[in-house]
Amino acid sequence: MEACNLCPRQCNIDRTKGVGYCKVGAAFKIGRIMKHMWEEPCISGDNGSGAVFFAGCNMGCIYCQNDKLSKGLVGKEYTADELVEEILKLQDMGCNNINFVTPSHYADRLPEVIIKARDKGLTIPIVYNTSSYESVESLRKLEGLVDIYLPDLKYLDADGAKKYSNAINYPGIARLALDEMVRQIGHCEFTNEGIMKKGVLVRHLVLPGRVEESKRVIDYLYTRYGDSIYISIMNQYTPYGKAKDDNILCRPITEDEYDEVVEHAVFIGVENGFIQEGETCSESFIPEFTSE
Ligand code: SF4
Repeated sequence: MEACNLCPRQCNIDRTKGVGYCKVGAAFKIGRIMKHMWEEPCISGDNGSGAVFFAGCNMGCIYCQNDKLSKGLVGKEYTADELVEEILKLQDMGCNNINFVTPSHYADRLPEVIIKARDKGLTIPIVYNTSSYESVESLRKLEGLVDIYLPDLKYLDADGAKKYSNAINYPGIARLALDEMVRQIGHCEFTNEGIMKKGVLVRHLVLPGRVEESKRVIDYLYTRYGDSIYISIMNQYTPYGKAKDDNILCRPITEDEYDEVVEHAVFIGVENGFIQEGETCSESFIPEFTSE
């Protein structure tokens, strides 16, 4: 943290005194800790996922739905011990797992939290819910501690990654990060009730006007990892923030666009997957981040 190079932004900044690209210092800053019912069925199930929404972010997506949180403008600071107590409360509430959301900029501090929580009786799986803009070195610190990786694969084209997330090197970085996650976890395992115990579930958000890119993403995932991972194809893109002014991202995706991507996945043989149905594109699905 005194010369932070934790993620591919390589800010080399002292986060005990200031902030880098991710906009948060060394202390855990958290926007909300809650039982989350709207992750994939194998993550949320009927009991919910114990989500910890970290403030700050190392991406720069123009369509970010949580920009106050990602810019570190809201959130409350927690010590590692306080976070451990919150995690144990989520377990007591019956959550299926502990779900660290946007944790990349705390990757080197989380092992301490996970180990302490396990020592104090945490038995449910740890989910690491990430954009995949991660260094392999950081991910290796989590080996044996994270049970489920829930990464995005947002883009394979550098132009899209630069234009929409200010991360021109995202495709190469994300590929290496996914390789590392799959290497650590291997195959997926579920309870008898269908709740994931360990595994890698890769999410891809279909963006408007980019059906061919989405098909390339699905092709890449299935060719490289086959049935060792699950793929979640998401239709919930909502124009938000600066994306409302973008000539391509200013609208939701159409049903035809989403169906074309899903049909392609089925056509190439993807069986381990999740799709979304109905009205998931709505600002009303975006949680409030009030530090409460
Ligand atoms: S974690 Fe934050 S400060 Fe550290 S390199 Fe990444 S963006 Fe920069």
